Amino acid sequence: MSKVRVYEIAQQLEVSSKEIIEKLKEHGINVHSHMSTLATEQADTIIKHYKEESKDMAKKTDSKVDRQAEEEPIVLEEEDELEEEELRIIEIPPTIAVNLLADKLETTAVNLITSLMQRGIMATINQEIDFDTASMLAEEYDTILELEEEIDILEQIFTEEPDDERDLTSRPPVVVVMGHVDHGKTSLLDALRFSKVTEQEAGGITQHIGASTISVDDQQITFLDTPGHEAFTAMRMRGAQVTDIAILVVAADDGVMPQTIEAINHARAAGIEIIVAINKMDKPSANPDRVKQELADHGLIVEEWGGETICVPVSALQREGLDNLLEMVLLVAEMNEYKANPNKRARGTIIESELDKGRGPVATVLVQEGTLKVGDPIVAGLAYGRIRAMIDDKGNQVRVATPSTPVEILGLSEVPIAGDMFYVAANNKHARQVSDKVREQGRTQLIAQTPSKVSLDDLFTQIQDGTVKDLNIIVKADVQGSVEAVRQSLERLSNEEVRIRVIHGGVGAVTESDVILASASNAIIIGFNVRPDSGARSVADREEVDIRLYRVIYNAIEDIEAAMKGMLDPEFKEKVIGHAEVRQTFKISSMGTVAGSYVTDGKVTRNSQVRIIRDGIVVYEGELTSLKRFKDDAKEVNSGYECGFMFDRFNDVKEGDVVEAFIMEEIPR
Ligand code: GDP
Repeated sequence: MSKVRVYEIAQQLEVSSKEIIEKLKEHGINVHSHMSTLATEQADTIIKHYKEESKDMAKKTDSKVDRQAEEEPIVLEEEDELEEEELRIIEIPPTIAVNLLADKLETTAVNLITSLMQRGIMATINQEIDFDTASMLAEEYDTILELEEEIDILEQIFTEEPDDERDLTSRPPVVVVMGHVDHGKTSLLDALRFSKVTEQEAGGITQHIGASTISVDDQQITFLDTPGHEAFTAMRMRGAQVTDIAILVVAADDGVMPQTIEAINHARAAGIEIIVAINKMDKPSANPDRVKQELADHGLIVEEWGGETICVPVSALQREGLDNLLEMVLLVAEMNEYKANPNKRARGTIIESELDKGRGPVATVLVQEGTLKVGDPIVAGLAYGRIRAMIDDKGNQVRVATPSTPVEILGLSEVPIAGDMFYVAANNKHARQVSDKVREQGRTQLIAQTPSKVSLDDLFTQIQDGTVKDLNIIVKADVQGSVEAVRQSLERLSNEEVRIRVIHGGVGAVTESDVILASASNAIIIGFNVRPDSGARSVADREEVDIRLYRVIYNAIEDIEAAMKGMLDPEFKEKVIGHAEVRQTFKISSMGTVAGSYVTDGKVTRNSQVRIIRDGIVVYEGELTSLKRFKDDAKEVNSGYECGFMFDRFNDVKEGDVVEAFIMEEIPR
């Protein structure tokens, strides 16, 4: 059924739309405006009626015709103006709920629903209708709809407003304690916290909320309660940079150990200050000078030796040197002038979270900017809600939390993940919309500021785009000599466009901690004769960290060099097809050693290449000379079956070795 608009009829009859509307009313047809539509049949009837009527009128008012003719243009002009005035333009989103549209059109939802029904559309008050349908309805209200420019709600909340210098006030430093296992991280943290607890507070000290603030004279220091660089870097990987200062604990009787080095490198990669605490000074075997020497070997030269590293001898056990250590923390804080703007909506990081039986989702947050208040609507990952209550680290209910203050918050819809950022939204609805959007787009979106990960395959493009200026590399190898050799060769490749930095190097398998550091620092991992352990592999997949494994140093240098020139040859890529575990070995004279094995995942094929891994280190890479099921040659053996391997020129296979089978796959360019 075709339709005609009122103004079209008016044009045809050369009268105003208003007149037609009046006329229609006389005939019991209620239309709203010149944009309203009528069925063609109806329109025809009206036109016919109107014409006849005007003919009669004309006859009767013949004498007035001249005057009318003079007046006509004026009337028409007015009508034009009227039409322009009446037409409203309103912006709406791509879909809109009926009641919201009604509000915008200044009518009732019932009216709209009735109109929709006339068009054969059954709608409820909250139903979302599309733009075209809404436009059709709007016409009846002299309104033209335009598509609202979709504001990126995530962008809006994640974007940081620039602060006015005048709003910035000094905030307490946030400190994390790092170091090798058993060097006294936990003891030191406890001692520091306890050293400044007053009698009244002593009851509250057992309160564990993930972070705590201590007062030294009239100044404050916030400590993250979870010691260790892994937790620290895991948060950084999630986009959260919360820490200002790392206290590196080194036991005076043990010296710099592998995790000490990791901690140094993790702290450096994060660009935070390092203060060394030489702990266990009470022990007779304490040798602080040796520690200082070892630190110097890793680039931390203590002040008394002409360097810049602050180093404080302490004993967590005897509570000695603690005041001095705290004083140094405050000194470093003073030099760095840590500041934040407390006069805006708060944002910060989730430090810890859990589902509490009685209280529901509970999270400890560290406020980093702005002031968090009870009643604030917040978003944290997929969780949102209005803050129902806040509890500080001493167990007191508080109403506000300023920058660098940790507080426990209640009122979230679900448990957020530690490391998630939290943001205060404009209102509760907004908070929910953001969390919905995040759910929709996947959690990764949350780490909004994280740039896309660097990979050797597109390094060249990223260099050209200017997205990569520092190529961060982590080197893991079977021996320390290789680590150093690679570090030097790689760093020499730096040129004007990119600087190559080996941010961490070490002996042994590629671990989860390496991958976390790589992810947080946008680094590539290069391994020589080592493999990622299974934890590392799954985190690398999830975080899209590029791990490159080599047998020969030269190949790695060549690859990086080629990647920097955009000439990497990725036509073939290794694909691991399965793993087997060696369960028993048999020596067969004149033949060699057979490795009786069990395929644990994937499969092993006769033509696959293999490498043998012992404690994360590759001890052999080569080809199979035989693959057997019982006595017979097999083409392939699947996961869950036993088989016998023989390797090309390698008989030193041992029980417990892992055999990794891989094929070289062509990558379409
Ligand atoms: P973490 O693994 O680094 O957290 O180390 P802990 O704090 O658990 O301490 C490891 C061990 O060292 C514990 O047995 C502590 O009692 C001991 N310890 C910690 N600090 C000191 C200290 O200053 N002097 C001595 N003698 N022992 C200490």
